Amino acid sequence: MGKVIQLCLTCSGLFLVLLLPSAMGWGKEGHFAICKIAQGLLNKETLAAVRALLPDYADGDLAAVCSWADEVRFHMRWSSPLHYVDTPDFRCNYKYCRDCHDTVGRKDRCVTGAIYNYTEQLLLGVHDLNSEKNNNLTEALMFLSHFIGDVHQPLHVGFLGDEGGNTITVRWYRRKTNLHHVWDTMIIDSSLKTFYNSDLSNLIQAIQSNITGVWFMDSLSWRNCTADHVVCPDPYASESIELACKFAYRNATPGTTLGDDYFLSRLPVVEKRLAQAGVRLAATLNRIFTSTPINVTKLNVLNGDHRTSYSTEIM
Ligand SMILES: [Zn+2]
Repeated sequence: MGKVIQLCLTCSGLFLVLLLPSAMGWGKEGHFAICKIAQGLLNKETLAAVRALLPDYADGDLAAVCSWADEVRFHMRWSSPLHYVDTPDFRCNYKYCRDCHDTVGRKDRCVTGAIYNYTEQLLLGVHDLNSEKNNNLTEALMFLSHFIGDVHQPLHVGFLGDEGGNTITVRWYRRKTNLHHVWDTMIIDSSLKTFYNSDLSNLIQAIQSNITGVWFMDSLSWRNCTADHVVCPDPYASESIELACKFAYRNATPGTTLGDDYFLSRLPVVEKRLAQAGVRLAATLNRIFTSTPINVTKLNVLNGDHRTSYSTEIM
């Protein structure tokens, strides 16, 4: 049992004092944590390549741009469907060909399609194979880092009928909100206040020490892709919808008040998903920036169905 989980259980008997919601949504905090964890696991060559692509204002810190995709989704409206994938109600499974499309049915416009797309843009750019397409590799890196985070949030692979929990109104302790927001923001916010002295770096350190500790053997398998693929978001999406059914939707019907029981039993799930997202983002970036051109060919062949190449200019 990891430190993070132990901490939760130790405190489970305490009365949980919940302060007013912080001005900073989890969007930033969850994604920041994932990119911080990932950056610490990059090899030297990849770290140098990532830093070369980051905008100046990031000051060499991938975490500083990890929420950029959320900030631009309203003026780059074409990118909005790329943050999630909807699955059929109550099936509790995910299939790329069935589910990865936008609301008007355009194929590949979903979070897993976006991960394939931006991985490919980066690979082609790194190996200078697409100079005529001139993709924006800085944007590709920022999108990819964000979307690998999103696909790990269980309700970003939720049911179509309730928009991934967005239409399920619940109370989080005394505050009225929706189930999707609970998983995006509230669980992390409450954990920071209750267990981490309102300091995100404490949460990040707790997760990092689990990755090098009790989760170490698991983390070796988290970073693998099957069949030498450079990126493999489909199993991550399958895990998410399974967790959504098992933990997010369970005991959270419309009108429910969610409190200590829900918070303390779901927090370990959230913390493990942040860890997995960080480990897998790092592994993916390491594969992209240290792959040989032979791997690039393999990606194109194996993921031929997923090639989409959407970018700002065509949307
Ligand atoms: Zn997002």
